[in-house]
Parts: sequence; C-alpha cells; structure tokens
Amino acid sequence: MTEQKDALVCGAGGFIGSHMVKRLKKEGFRVRGVDLKYPEFGASAADDFIIGDLRDPRLCEKVADRPFDEVYQFAADMGGAGFVFTGENDAAIMHNSAMINLNMLEACRTAKVERIFYSSSACIYPEYNQKDPDNPNCAEDSAYPAAPDSDYGWEKLFSERLYMAYARNYGMNVHIARYHNIFGEEGTWRGGREKSPAALCRKVAEARDGGEIEMWGDGRQTRSFLYISECLEATLRLTRSDFMGPVNIGSEEMVSINQLAELIMRISGKKVSIKHIPGPLGVRGRNSDSRLIRQKLGWAPSQPLETGLKITYKWIEEQVKKPEK
Ligand code: NAD
Repeated sequence: MTEQKDALVCGAGGFIGSHMVKRLKKEGFRVRGVDLKYPEFGASAADDFIIGDLRDPRLCEKVADRPFDEVYQFAADMGGAGFVFTGENDAAIMHNSAMINLNMLEACRTAKVERIFYSSSACIYPEYNQKDPDNPNCAEDSAYPAAPDSDYGWEKLFSERLYMAYARNYGMNVHIARYHNIFGEEGTWRGGREKSPAALCRKVAEARDGGEIEMWGDGRQTRSFLYISECLEATLRLTRSDFMGPVNIGSEEMVSINQLAELIMRISGKKVSIKHIPGPLGVRGRNSDSRLIRQKLGWAPSQPLETGLKITYKWIEEQVKKPEK
C-alpha cells in the first residue's frame, strides 16, 4: 500500500486555496488548511483546518509541524483594483503579506517540507511594458528592471526573491507562479475586494434588462482571465515538476474590459448600457505570455474564457438572488 500524501494549504479559506483543498482531497491527499477564516461559501474539504494568523511565526511553526509532501502558500492580504490600486491599503498589504511569507517559508525550512509552491502575480511586471493595451509585454524575463505599478506587486517581487534565495542557499524545492487574473465560482463577488469578472457579473446580474451598469475607466484597458480549474491544474503540474519558475500561469485570450462586459451580457441574456466613471484601474494592457510554461510543462489552458464565465455568472446570479442573511 502506498502511504497517503500530506499537503498543507495556506490561505485555505480564500478563493484559490479552498478550491485547491478540494482538488487535493480528490487526489487522495491528507490536507491541512490554515487561514484567518473558514471558506465563505461552504465547508472546507480539509481534514483539519487551523484558524490563525500566519504573520505570527509561532503559528507558522505549529502549522508546519511535519515534512509535508506539498505546501501551497496562497495566504496574502489581497483584493481587486478597488483594494490594491487606491493606495490606501499599501502599508497593510506590504507588511502583512511579507510577514506571512517570511515566517511561513522559514517554518517550512525547519520542518523540511518536500515542495513548496508560492503564488506570485502578474502585478510584478513593469508598468513601462504595459502602456499599450494592444501590445503588453509580460514575458517572464521582462520583470527587470523592476517597476510594478503597485506596492502589492513590489511585495510579490520581494517574496519571489525570498523563495528563490531559500532555494539557492538552503536547497529548498520551491516553485513560483505569476498568476494572471484567476476567476470562478466561490470567489469574492462583492464587498470591495472583488475583481473585474466577479464585479461585472454581479452588476449585470443586479441590473434589469435595458438598464445601466457602472464601469471604472473607459473600458479599453485589456486583460486576460483564467478559470480556476485551469489554474489548479497548472499549479499542480508546476509544483510537481523540476522547474522552479517564476512562470506565468494565465490565459492568452486578451480582452478589453468592455468586451468582458459584453460577453457577460450575452451570457446573461440581458442588454445593459455601460456608464464609464472614474475609478482605480491598474495598467492599460496586460496579457499572459504562456510560451515558457508551454515549453517547460507542456501546459496551456484547455477552454475559452466564455466557458468559465458561464459557470461563474450562473453562480453569482444565484448569490444575488439569495435573500440577505
Ligand atoms: P483570497 O483573498 O481569496 O485568499 C487569500 C487568503 O489569505 C484569504 O482567505 C485570507 O483570509 C488569507 N489570509 C490573509 N492574511 C492572512 C494571515 N495573516 N493569516 C492567515 N491567512 C491569511 O485570494 P485568492 O484570489 O485566493 O489568491 C490567492 C493567492 O494568489 C494570493 O497570494 C494572491 O495574491 C495570489 N494571486 C491571485 C490572483 C487572482 O486573480 N485571484 C492573481 C494573482 C495572484
């Protein structure tokens, strides 16, 4: 009989972490989750779930109490443009997320974990390469000279370097992905931390046919979006490979935010008009560049944006219709 594998998911109460716990359980892992909170939209599938603050090194030691086969580090102080690009949360974002990474990585070293995955972000890429909405450059080797447009991005870049230094100096088996806008059901969809796909799904679901929704900016800024199941697949492949990264995990199906809204309207069957208003935006253009991950892992997304958006819209519509608790 083969022994059951052991995984630790940090940030298991969040969007990607709670989905990762489910996926690892399906694969037969024994899973420990840790977060400040339980998942918002249903019980965690984890075998044990520790509620605690990963900024605290003692909690990190308690959580990483054995040589886990796989550790997934998703915990971060994080949100969409309304949280990250206003500047109001910069000190908290940098302090909290850096503390989590410093303490958790050290605890993993002490516990001699087999493999550790770190979730970085496309937000590390320099603003100067993302001014043209039609031709952004997000190749992995374009990260330096560094000039992220947010302190969220700077913290991610610092932490990437921290994980790489631990790999170099302590021989740790580290894997780093730069995620590009992951979306799906059971993600934050209201409250100020939601990202554009969820926010637009909510606005369209709440609007009446022929009504109006508000959108920050002119809607001509471009992005790509990756559905959660694709993100998990790529993350597992990377973590179990001998490739450290950092590598982009994202979709190359670039759309403008106006096009994203049009797609959501089509899915909903409603026609609403868009009122453009001032708001926090981020860079003008961003798209994943998947050449490196295709080359190293033979991975690319398997489905178009519309497929994941249909599932996400349906789920958010159900949330909107639920009576307030
Ligand atoms: P999320 O906010 O849903 O999950 C993060 C979780 O970390 C939350 O549940 C939060 O409670 C937890 N957390 C925060 N501070 C903590 C602390 N001090 N102690 C313990 N837990 C703490 O975010 P997500 O969308 O699931 O993202 C997961 C990771 O992927 C994050 O590191 C994020 O920066 C990164 N990322 C996500 C995206 C995306 O599009 N979702 C894109 C790029 C990078």
